[in-house]
Amino acid sequence: MSGDCIFCSIVDGEIPSHTVYEDDDVLAFLDANPLARGHTLVIPKAHQSQLQDLDPSLAASIHEALFDLVGTVEGAVDADGSNVGLNNGEASGQEIPHVHYHIVPRFEGDGGSPIHAVGGAAPDLDDDELAAIADDIAGD
Ligand code: 5GP
Ligand code: ZN
Repeated sequence: MSGDCIFCSIVDGEIPSHTVYEDDDVLAFLDANPLARGHTLVIPKAHQSQLQDLDPSLAASIHEALFDLVGTVEGAVDADGSNVGLNNGEASGQEIPHVHYHIVPRFEGDGGSPIHAVGGAAPDLDDDELAAIADDIAGD
């Protein structure tokens, strides 16, 4: 439990949720303000703010659960696809600073957008700039 974290309170049972999956490390429950039928949040039970804060075994557990849940959620609401992602850090739009993946079921003609819509003004990068960024990320 971390301070007054809403998701820690859900893990602790102090705030009710519609739980769809639980194991020792991971909890998944319906988003209270769903973007679509079946909108599900998948969280580590331990309070960690951002994805890069997870230790490797916790990261493995949450990704294994996520992997299993995507098809299950889609099937349960008869979705045609889903967007899967997380807001990582305040600048990205993360409102609750406890790591959580969103599984947002998608339906043909639902009027939503692809995940590409999350970015701000797109930079115009030439190949040299792309190469320099790739080197920085790769640590070359
Ligand atoms: P974020 O913007 O941090 O990525 O998303 C937070 C999500 O948590 C939002 O989609 C919001 O609807 C959901 N949420 C906020 N408070 C609660 C709550 O008390 N219960 C549940 N189930 N979802 C919540
Ligand atoms: Zn928390």
